[in-house]
Amino acid sequence: MSGGELKYINEAFETNWIAPLGPNVDAFENEIAHYIGANGAVAVSSGTAAIHLALSLLDVKKGDTVFCSTLTFVASANPILYQGAEPVFIDSEPETWNMSPEALEKAFIDASRTGKLPKAVIVVNLYGQSAKMDEILSICNQYDVPMIEDAAESLGSSYKGMSSGTFGKFGIFSFNGNKIITTSGGGMLVSDDVDALNKARFLATQSRDPAPHYQHSVMGFNYRMSNILAGVGRGQLEVLEERVLARRIIFSRYYQGLSHLPGISFMPELENTRSNRWLTTLTIDEKEAGISSNYLIQSLAEENIEARPVWKPLHLQPLFKRVKYYPYKNNRSVSDHLFTTGVCLPSGSNLTEEEMIRVIDCLKNAFKLKI
Ligand SMILES: *Cc1c(COP(=O)(O)O)cnc(C)c1O
Repeated sequence: MSGGELKYINEAFETNWIAPLGPNVDAFENEIAHYIGANGAVAVSSGTAAIHLALSLLDVKKGDTVFCSTLTFVASANPILYQGAEPVFIDSEPETWNMSPEALEKAFIDASRTGKLPKAVIVVNLYGQSAKMDEILSICNQYDVPMIEDAAESLGSSYKGMSSGTFGKFGIFSFNGNKIITTSGGGMLVSDDVDALNKARFLATQSRDPAPHYQHSVMGFNYRMSNILAGVGRGQLEVLEERVLARRIIFSRYYQGLSHLPGISFMPELENTRSNRWLTTLTIDEKEAGISSNYLIQSLAEENIEARPVWKPLHLQPLFKRVKYYPYKNNRSVSDHLFTTGVCLPSGSNLTEEEMIRVIDCLKNAFKLKI
């Protein structure tokens, strides 16, 4: 927390707006929409709920397929299952670690041959780095299939000067505790289609028909964000730019300290994009480095420093073991490689210089002990 949140929480208490609606909710929605440059936003209980609402609005249902990035957190794809639809996973490419336009195109060609196009494409911006939006959108537009931008990790990032989250028919953000700004738990659905957002608000509030009694014609959800948490979000949004700067400094500090080590490559930043560097991540080429990513994570753990592997790709998850997958090249899966060689370093916005030096020294030591 930054401290600024308390003002908005106190306002909620003083006006007794302790509900899943209220002035903080309206203001937080407007502030996010204004910040990213979208027509509107709907504050919800989680990023997962926002993806679920987007799929509902696009009428994704049983028997449908949805294309989805494979290198991501499971929350990107679970809502496809909620709708009874089937995911098809698309590999990453090496320049952004995000959805490969080539693999996406292959999936589309196959789908159009069988006469069954996907209902939507979910594109993730991993660790704050935007995917190749121009290439991906041009393929989606060619087949007239809407794109949902999973920008849960990329609030504050941009692609060619435009904010992350504004590229698809719908964009989603997460304010879960680990994200760059947080409401402890929460999310946002954004779009330029204000009618669709009003429908999302309706669905997220148990689909109450406009009647004085409780009347319901369609199935709804209880997905709205509380007025107190929206107050936390408003205070957090005020420090978002600071956080992005802090995370970018953390990245450059690690880069300075470690990039000369053999076999280490940092997650790239695509030209004309700005990543919020939510997490600083790197890969280790075991042959060049003499140590594996697991060894490195283990050595850091021995010093009580928590580092983690990158997301386990969804096509490798037991949950999705029978799901179709399109690799980058016929015999080359980029996400598999990133999973086996990748490490996420401690990247919290409040990391101190001493703490970073400790991580860097410990990492260098791991190399020395092995070489
Ligand atoms: C965190 C995250 C989500 C889900 O957000 P929640 O608010 O935790 O439901 C979805 N997609 C990605 C890529 C995420 O990192």
